[in-house]
Amino acid sequence: MTHYDFLIVGGGMVADAAARGIREQGSTGSIGVLGDEPTPPFPRPALSKKLWTDPDFTVADADPGTADETGAHVTLDTRVISVDPEAHEVTTEAGETVGYGALLIATGGHPTRLDGLEPSDRVLYYRTLTDYHRLRELVDVDPKPHVAVVGGGYIGSEIAAAMVGEGCRVTLLHPDDVLGQSTYPPRLAQDFEALFTDAGVDVRGGTRVEGGLQADDGVSLRLPGGETLEADVVVLGLGIRPSGEPISDAVERADDGGIVVDERLATTAPDVYAAGDVAQYPDKILGRRRVEHVDNADSMGAAVGRIMAGSDETYDHTPMFYSDLFGHGYEAIGTLDSSLETVEDRFASGDGGDDDDESVVVYYLTDDEVVGVLLWDCDGGLDDATALLASHTRPADAHDLVGRIRPQKENA
Ligand SMILES: Cc1cc2nc3c(=O)[nH]c(=O)nc-3n(C[C@H](O)[C@H](O)[C@H](O)COP(=O)(O)OP(=O)(O)OC[C@H]3O[C@@H](n4cnc5c(N)ncnc54)[C@H](O)[C@@H]3O)c2cc1C
Repeated sequence: MTHYDFLIVGGGMVADAAARGIREQGSTGSIGVLGDEPTPPFPRPALSKKLWTDPDFTVADADPGTADETGAHVTLDTRVISVDPEAHEVTTEAGETVGYGALLIATGGHPTRLDGLEPSDRVLYYRTLTDYHRLRELVDVDPKPHVAVVGGGYIGSEIAAAMVGEGCRVTLLHPDDVLGQSTYPPRLAQDFEALFTDAGVDVRGGTRVEGGLQADDGVSLRLPGGETLEADVVVLGLGIRPSGEPISDAVERADDGGIVVDERLATTAPDVYAAGDVAQYPDKILGRRRVEHVDNADSMGAAVGRIMAGSDETYDHTPMFYSDLFGHGYEAIGTLDSSLETVEDRFASGDGGDDDDESVVVYYLTDDEVVGVLLWDCDGGLDDATALLASHTRPADAHDLVGRIRPQKENA
């Protein structure tokens, strides 16, 4: 039976960071990574951004080189189906048993599927490098295809921007009245949607796709009211469900299926840790939560690696997240939910004075306390935003927040 001192189930972003964390701690122990994708760990943000927006940026440029740089043994196309924490063993779908000293569950999440629309060669629940390669094949043709993007979250919106940038006809279908309205306050949501319509994307709000029929040369999406939409390619970004199935019975689970860990990222099973999208952890500032973002995957992955290799630290980082679109972008921290009380602070921070030089800071409040900050088209401000959340500020009047964080653009 193969045995590793450190075994990582899931070959994604946490796996790469954790293997580096183990080495950073000075351990020379053996590291095994068992991942069910056909490709090794890869930075997923590039799949919807730089690989489309920067013609000089290639897959090879983004490859973190996990195996070469950490000495980890990365096994691909290998799905783990069960964990036996008492025996310190996992079992793969092929029936192989692999032993471990310490185990990390880094299985991320499965994309949410739409009933009646199976993934296929032209229906992509976009998450992996394999999906990127397939979408490239579908798009690098003449004439360009009609791409229907389903979902207005960051993956849907970034892919819609990427596809229109490739010269495709793009229809973006989402259930809200205005794109981004569940995240941004009304004026910013209008501005956000305008970025897409100005670029030529056909944005169809209030549209919950019900299913679809696939043929060899296209897909017919079923829309409410018996309407249909014909597309050559369909890309879906409907969120994810945490994929902790291999260890479901052996550890405490959160209501959403995430794996509950403590401040040292340990699960309730001996020598079993979890990190990344799958882990529900006690954030020092924001309280218990699961975070599906790369800063968390990188920081938590590195921390859990060091902890497994003997560090006595706790995970104290409160992660940020970001998105980039049409030359605009944001960084954010905490809860961004436009149903909360919001204060929008707009100010000129560029060198001109037109709209493109306007920055926006949005504060989100629950029970008068600031619980989230969005920095739209700002350079910096994240440290101030983190400090504001950590102070658990309750301003006497929410509008006193205006002017509190005023990052200036570098060229201002
Ligand atoms: C297209 C895209 C763009 C993104 N852009 C941003 C961004 O701009 N900003 C941001 O903050 N975040 C972004 N993210 C989110 C970020 O990439 C994730 O938070 C991060 O990848 C989480 O890392 P992880 O290791 O927990 O999960 P993953 O990277 O998903 O890795 C988990 C791996 O485990 C595998 N696996 C699952 N179950 C098993 C099993 N039983 N056996 C073996 N292997 C298994 C999965 O197939 C997967 O390979 C983006 C995500 C995507 C998909």
